[in-house]
Amino acid sequence: MSNFATDILRAFETARPEPDWRRPAALLAGLSGLAQEAALDLGVARRDAALMAWRRALFGSQWRAFAQCPACGTMLEYELPTAPEMFAAPEDVLEISAEGRVWRLRWPNSRDLARAAACPDRDAARGQLLARMLETPADDAPTALLLEAVAAAHKSCWSVDLQCCACPRAWNVLFDAGEFLWRELRAAARRILREVDAIARVYHWSEAEILAMSEPRRAAYLELVS
Ligand SMILES: [Zn+2]
Repeated sequence: MSNFATDILRAFETARPEPDWRRPAALLAGLSGLAQEAALDLGVARRDAALMAWRRALFGSQWRAFAQCPACGTMLEYELPTAPEMFAAPEDVLEISAEGRVWRLRWPNSRDLARAAACPDRDAARGQLLARMLETPADDAPTALLLEAVAAAHKSCWSVDLQCCACPRAWNVLFDAGEFLWRELRAAARRILREVDAIARVYHWSEAEILAMSEPRRAAYLELVS
């Protein structure tokens, strides 16, 4: 049995116990059936493109988010970028021209990023990350240039410029497909569990029976019991 509710709950169960760095991969594993260790080995661009495709399949193409103005506290609603190219899986190897050479790099995966994050300082982290990504190791690689080019090529993880509607403050928020989808999916899972709880208390149907209902039918029973 697989429908919206069971897909959401399966992914929620898989991702919830995981630490932050493993969660996007766990989310993808829970949704797609891919083994979690394999999802951790996926390049982050391919992983996030797959998460974006799942996001569209589950919740539709519009993606609204909220942010609080850091100056005056006003809540802003904004639209997250969901351009078609964000759903396309990128090439596994990037070719970047810099300093008269073409550098071939593979995308970092979740494990690479976690190792880099555990480094004692930023330079060490960047050096280690690039060393893992370069197909042919090179001591003279322009680390900053190459990592910036990779970040720019990562379409599912970028910053969104926001402008407060109540004061002159402008700022940007980092858009991270895994984190945004996790928050949305967690909220949906909690809603579904509350619905199952409310219906089961009145009708004494099993969880499986309630989850097998279509969304409109479950909503209709919910109206009757509340
Ligand atoms: Zn403001």
